[in-house]
Amino acid sequence: MNTQLIYLNPEQMNETELQKAVKILQEDQCIAIPTETVYGLAANALSELAIKRIFEAKGRPSDNPLIVHVSNMSMLKRCIHQDLSSRIMAIIDAFWPGPLTLVFKKSKLIPNEVSAHLETVGIRWPNHPIALALIETSGFPLAAPSANVSGRPSPTKAEHVLHDLSGKIAGIIMAEQSAVGVESTVLDVSGDDFRILRKGGVSLESLQHIDPAITYDDALAHPELTPKSPGQKYKHYAPSKPMLALSGNIESLVHHLKTMDLSQILLISTDEIINHLDVPYHLSLGSYHDHDLAMNRLFDCLRVSETLPVESIIITGFEDSGLGATLNDRISKASSQKLTII
Ligand code: AMP
Ligand code: MG
Repeated sequence: MNTQLIYLNPEQMNETELQKAVKILQEDQCIAIPTETVYGLAANALSELAIKRIFEAKGRPSDNPLIVHVSNMSMLKRCIHQDLSSRIMAIIDAFWPGPLTLVFKKSKLIPNEVSAHLETVGIRWPNHPIALALIETSGFPLAAPSANVSGRPSPTKAEHVLHDLSGKIAGIIMAEQSAVGVESTVLDVSGDDFRILRKGGVSLESLQHIDPAITYDDALAHPELTPKSPGQKYKHYAPSKPMLALSGNIESLVHHLKTMDLSQILLISTDEIINHLDVPYHLSLGSYHDHDLAMNRLFDCLRVSETLPVESIIITGFEDSGLGATLNDRISKASSQKLTII
């Protein structure tokens, strides 16, 4: 398949180029689009054929539901079969548009293929001018999982999408790097207990600031339980070389790494740690205290790690609070071994 490359500047969108992308969506084809979390593989969420094409292009297991992207409240209301309580509205007002997916009881409009035959549907109002313009102009919600082949890291740059999906999808919108860099937080609001099913771009603490009763779902802390978010049970991306995740404070990590021979190892770490070491191969996630920057860089560093001539990889984690918990979650999923240094 010929993959059309469409160049759009979010600050000044060229109408002709935008219409090319809308045409692809109206023809029930898939197109990779930028969002603020990661690049999404978008198609008409109300079309079974379009949804089938998303699963095929990604090689995604059919029991892993897709997130539906909306651009206004009336579109949301058409997708759900549930009252919007004042509790839910407080969360929507605080975090939408943004990197938070809410799981609702679904309406009949949503095909079973989107929700993987669950009674619920995950919905997000993204905060990206190109994604919003596409939803508004096409007039239907967009299903959009991350635009990577299943098992690869989520794409944060158009070049990552080109690498994974060129020739497999109808188009790619070539735009800038995703600002957040990790996927959305998934919060279940379909029952009385609001639970986080997947860590992501909004932290537990900032959700609790609006609604103190929100907690993590038990399955996030206890891997032996069946997760309510089907995607959590699949093996996530891990580099082809062994990757060891080290956690601890800056001093203990520096002390431990100084005792190691790092000559054939890639170190993915923070400036505070790298600057204390003499290590030939390193990639910086930024400052230990700057979770936003580290989220923005993490998936790109993992992709770059594949290209370097090293035997193995060491990656260091973050303090496990706020968005540090999201970083540690993605680092842990990508690692073959974990060690806490005290
Ligand atoms: P991705 O599209 O790759 O960011 O993955 C979407 C994530 O949201 C996966 O982990 C899904 O399992 C999860 N998800 C989507 N819809 C639902 C739902 N209705 N109930 C629970 N989890 C969901
Ligand atoms: Mg994904």
